[in-house]
This record gives sequence, C-alpha cells and structure tokens, in this order.
Amino acid sequence: MMKRCIEIFTHFSEIVGGNAGFVNTGWAFLTPPEVARPFRKNLALQQDLGINTREISKAELLELEPRFDLRDVGQIAYEPDSGYADPHLTTTSYIQAGCSRGLDMLQCTRVTALRIEHGRVMGVKTPNCEISTKVVVNAAGPWANGVAEMAGLSIPIVVSREEEILLAPPVGQKPPQLFTTGPTDDESW
Ligand SMILES: Cc1cc2nc3c(=O)[nH]c(=O)nc-3n(C[C@H](O)[C@H](O)[C@H](O)COP(=O)(O)OP(=O)(O)OC[C@H]3O[C@@H](n4cnc5c(N)ncnc54)[C@H](O)[C@@H]3O)c2cc1C
Repeated sequence: MMKRCIEIFTHFSEIVGGNAGFVNTGWAFLTPPEVARPFRKNLALQQDLGINTREISKAELLELEPRFDLRDVGQIAYEPDSGYADPHLTTTSYIQAGCSRGLDMLQCTRVTALRIEHGRVMGVKTPNCEISTKVVVNAAGPWANGVAEMAGLSIPIVVSREEEILLAPPVGQKPPQLFTTGPTDDESW
C-alpha cells in the first residue's frame, strides 16, 4: 500500500486527475535501541517489496534536520520519496474523478439499514431514499462495525481516543521540513 500510495501521490494529476497537494518532504522513522532486530527485519522486508527506504545514521539525520534530540533513538529508517498530502484536496479530487466517470454521490446521507433477502444484500436504506444494489462496500472507518451489524456481522474494530499535541516552533524558527514518527505503544515488533 505504501509503495502504491507514493506512486499515486507523486503522479496524482496523471493517475487520478486534479491536485492532492502532495509535498515530498521525506520521512524518518525513529525507533528505540531495544527494537534493533525487528527494525532491521521490517526494513529488509520493505526493501524486498521495492520501497525506497534505508537505514541512516544519527549524523545523517542531523544533516537533514539539526534540531532533533536523538538521545533515546537507536535506529532510523529514512524514506526520501515520502511526504504529506492535503486530505481535503485529495478527497475532492477523487470525488471529481469519480463523478466524471459516472459516480453519483449523496452527501450527508446516512445508511440506516441494509435490505437483505435470502441471505443476500439487495440494497441500502437511507432516511431519504432506498438504493437497490447487490454490492455494498463498507468504508465507514471507525463506524464500520455499526454498518457490519446491519448485515448481522461483527468486525473486530475497537475505537479508542487518541491524544494529539500541537507544538509551535520556537519564535523565529520554521517547523522541521522532514516528517518523523516513532513506534506507538500498540505497535507489534
Ligand atoms: C486525529 C487523527 C490524526 C490522523 N493523522 C493521520 C495522518 O497524519 N496521516 C495519515 O495517513 N492518517 C492519519 N490518520 C488516519 C486517517 O485519518 C484514517 O486512516 C483515514 O481517514 C481512514 O479513512 P477511511 O475512508 O477508511 O475512513 P474515514 O475517513 O473515517 O471515513 C469513514 C466515513 O464513513 C462515514 N460513515 C460512517 N457511518 C456511516 C453510515 N452509516 N452511512 C454513511 N456513511 C457513514 C463517516 O461519516 C466518514 O465520513 C489520523 C486519524 C486521526 C483520528
């Protein structure tokens, strides 16, 4: 998925059409020393899949962004082709591309029930209308379990609250141009 995402975002206007606001900043994944072995295993797996990623030293990362404090960092993976996109632009570009290919979009229209006959989905019900279809794609994200329950199914999705912090750069300084993340608590190594 990562490899295909980078291809699509880098050539968005040709592949999808419109603009995704993609900015190629590069991405660094910082991990603590104790996960060195699984880190290198994951890196090798990604390289085998053709992802442009490699391990870099702390000195190399500091050349890219000298302001990092790397005291607790053991290993660093660097993907020069990565970056970030604008979610609103990306979504509207996909919708426009879909509409130009015959997509009908109903905004702010909640699926309230599925019409099921003889064990098969035959349509979706909304507060305003009913749509006949034999195929329903459940793309309801954190609400996907609620939609699945309409078909008598249970999806093991647990919704939990996530904390985010927003830090302003010191006065007179720009934010780092390089994207960085570290492993989360629930990351399995
Ligand atoms: C705080 C936060 C920060 C994040 N930061 C990043 C980031 O920096 N980079 C990154 O790549 N990802 C990030 N993510 C993850 C990213 O937002 C999700 O992975 C992504 O939005 C999932 O897309 P989706 O289309 O599967 O689901 P969603 O975007 O959740 O869309 C599901 C849609 O289904 C609709 N829906 C629900 N129930 C029904 C119903 N009954 N009928 C009709 N429609 C329904 C909802 O209204 C919603 O529009 C972040 C997530 C959060 C919460």
